[in-house]
Amino acid sequence: MSDKRFQGYRGPGRAVLERFDVGVWHDVVLTTGDGSFAGLILPRSETSDDRHIVIKMETGYNVGILADTITNITEHGRREINYEIPEKAFPFDKHKPNVTLFGTGGTIASRLDYRTGAVIPAFSPGELYGSVPELADICNLTTEKLYGVFSENMGPEQWITLANRIGEEIEKGVDGIVIGHGTDTMHHTAAILSFMVQDSPVPIVMVGSQRSSDRPSSDAAFNLIHAVKAAAEGNIAEVIVCMFGPTSDEYGLLHRGARVRKMHSSYRSAFRTLGDIPLAMIDSKSISPLRQDFKPRRKDRNVTINTAFEERVTILYYYPNMQPDIVDAMVEKGYRGIVIAGTGLGHVNKPIYAALQRATDAGVHVYMTVQTLWGYVQMYVYETGREIMGLGVTPAANMLPEVAYMKLCWALGQTTDREEVKKIMLTPVGDEITDREPYDGYLIFQGAIPEVEEFLRTIKR
Ligand code: ASP
Repeated sequence: MSDKRFQGYRGPGRAVLERFDVGVWHDVVLTTGDGSFAGLILPRSETSDDRHIVIKMETGYNVGILADTITNITEHGRREINYEIPEKAFPFDKHKPNVTLFGTGGTIASRLDYRTGAVIPAFSPGELYGSVPELADICNLTTEKLYGVFSENMGPEQWITLANRIGEEIEKGVDGIVIGHGTDTMHHTAAILSFMVQDSPVPIVMVGSQRSSDRPSSDAAFNLIHAVKAAAEGNIAEVIVCMFGPTSDEYGLLHRGARVRKMHSSYRSAFRTLGDIPLAMIDSKSISPLRQDFKPRRKDRNVTINTAFEERVTILYYYPNMQPDIVDAMVEKGYRGIVIAGTGLGHVNKPIYAALQRATDAGVHVYMTVQTLWGYVQMYVYETGREIMGLGVTPAANMLPEVAYMKLCWALGQTTDREEVKKIMLTPVGDEITDREPYDGYLIFQGAIPEVEEFLRTIKR
């Protein structure tokens, strides 16, 4: 049998496929000592192990079954898999707004054919139109693939290019920008773009998907349609993140770039606004603002791009029993800035005080944030806080640790003057620092969770 039939299968995995005369894209029932599994045999990548057969079950989930445990395989059919997405010319309508979609990679860029379920990299306007035709009802779309990386690989080089390309597109007259991005570090990129791109006259909307489009529960098309709508028609001219709202697929939420965070590794409703309430709800018909204090769309083309960035900055996530040598090591290695994610209101243990003093004496800029994520650093409440401030550590209000990290990179890229850095750090550019948290923000407006309602109904009161 040809290699095509065994794509990626080697060793025991391939042997078992040969024994039962089956191959990839065959519909099969696999029998093992633990029961039977029905599904479609998927190809394996060259780097995967050689001991498992991977099938896609009807639920859309992929499972790997140890070749050694398989006692029988019966074939029930074969499928022709077409890796191509039909390239249809994206229609141009002069009455529709013009949106530029920048691709950086992530799940959303690699698997967009939500109807056929095939795993395909799709990116040109024609491919996007072929897989999500609804986009053409909203705007004229131009796409540009800047990168094709999973988001842990995004870094200063990519952020700076992105900021510059955004500036150029705005000056050219585009009505909105969408950035397709892996979800894992989308909030990091959203934060740095909130600092690097200021006073945009048009929406800059980041979007990703938690589940790939070969899964029936994929959020790729849902999120993309909403993001394109927010960019084309929305009135919020800020860096925003557009992702799934509640756990049901009723609406999406628009979050402010410097107040949003990925809070779940696999839920589709993974993104939450922290310390505040989201900007708006969005569905295919409307965008409903949840607050009015956003920067509205403008007609001019003025935007400020400032891509300053100092790379020698780090986050120190405090844990009890942290040893001082870890702080000393950062100073020795030439780090210019440290953002501490402290406990409670912003604390660390006494043994590292002296090391923090050595750091600030050496000219390192040290800022305190809270690992509770909600709430403010308050260093006047306990003696600990006052002592830590005495070491030259500056409280960073209610900036999220990753946001403070990005802001410190940006501030130190502009100046090393202590007071100047402090001024930049503590003067809000957007909502990275707010005067107070809304009393109900922690509890509501994060997208209704039907499961919670259901749970509460079952409790006898
Ligand atoms: N690991 C992926 C990324 O962040 C996950 C995703 O795209 O959702 O690039």
